[in-house]
Amino acid sequence: MDDIKQARFWAAWLHRFLHILPCTCEICARPAASLFCAQCRLDLTRNNECCVQCAEELPSTIEFAYAPQSKRCGRCITNPPDFQRTVFAYDYNGPVAELIQRFKFNESLILNHLLADMITSRLKEYEFPLPEALIPVPLHPLRLKQRGFNQSLELARRIGKTLNIPVYHTLLIRTRNTPKQSGLARRTREINIKGAFQLKAGKNKAQLKSKHLAIVDDVITTGSTTREVAKILKRSGAASISAIAVAKTRHRINY
Ligand SMILES: [Zn+2]
Ligand SMILES: [Zn+2]
Repeated sequence: MDDIKQARFWAAWLHRFLHILPCTCEICARPAASLFCAQCRLDLTRNNECCVQCAEELPSTIEFAYAPQSKRCGRCITNPPDFQRTVFAYDYNGPVAELIQRFKFNESLILNHLLADMITSRLKEYEFPLPEALIPVPLHPLRLKQRGFNQSLELARRIGKTLNIPVYHTLLIRTRNTPKQSGLARRTREINIKGAFQLKAGKNKAQLKSKHLAIVDDVITTGSTTREVAKILKRSGAASISAIAVAKTRHRINY
């Protein structure tokens, strides 16, 4: 950690836990009344015109008028994934994208709490019951070794602690170290990720049976990863599956 990062870390820590120093904005480091300054807070956006199932941005209201109540995209209607809903806190841009990137490459308790709490607040707004167990998307062991921690697991741990939900992080494994997915087209991502996860040998599926499970990830891009993980959970007997993430990238499906 360089000097500035270290100073910022301790200033935030002293403020949050000991209430000694005034708070500075987590994004721009300017003085702030809470974790974000007013300007950065304005930059947090969330698209509500998205499919309730996969969170893809929906076409205009005219185009999806054939299913206005369900607010599901054409893809989820014709070829539904094995998860029933997606909950995300914000769009993946501006401050949230910066915080997630910072968190990915620098394990920080403050960032972990901040990002996980964004998901927790959003979960509390929904009418459906809270999940009975959280399943963080596993990292391949090689990637885990490089990074030193699994960001999805750390997020799940904090959410689980806040909402009193168990975290099952030893049931699934990532068997293939898929190439970096960012920047790839949907179809390529789907091909890359196919069969990349499986249930760990010897693990008891009974833990998953008839439960409402939530797959936890930091960012959902095309949803290919979520689809693959959900497939395994469904096969293992899950009754209902939700996908939860800090952020969702915005882009339209080409019908
Ligand atoms: Zn700021
Ligand atoms: Zn959809």
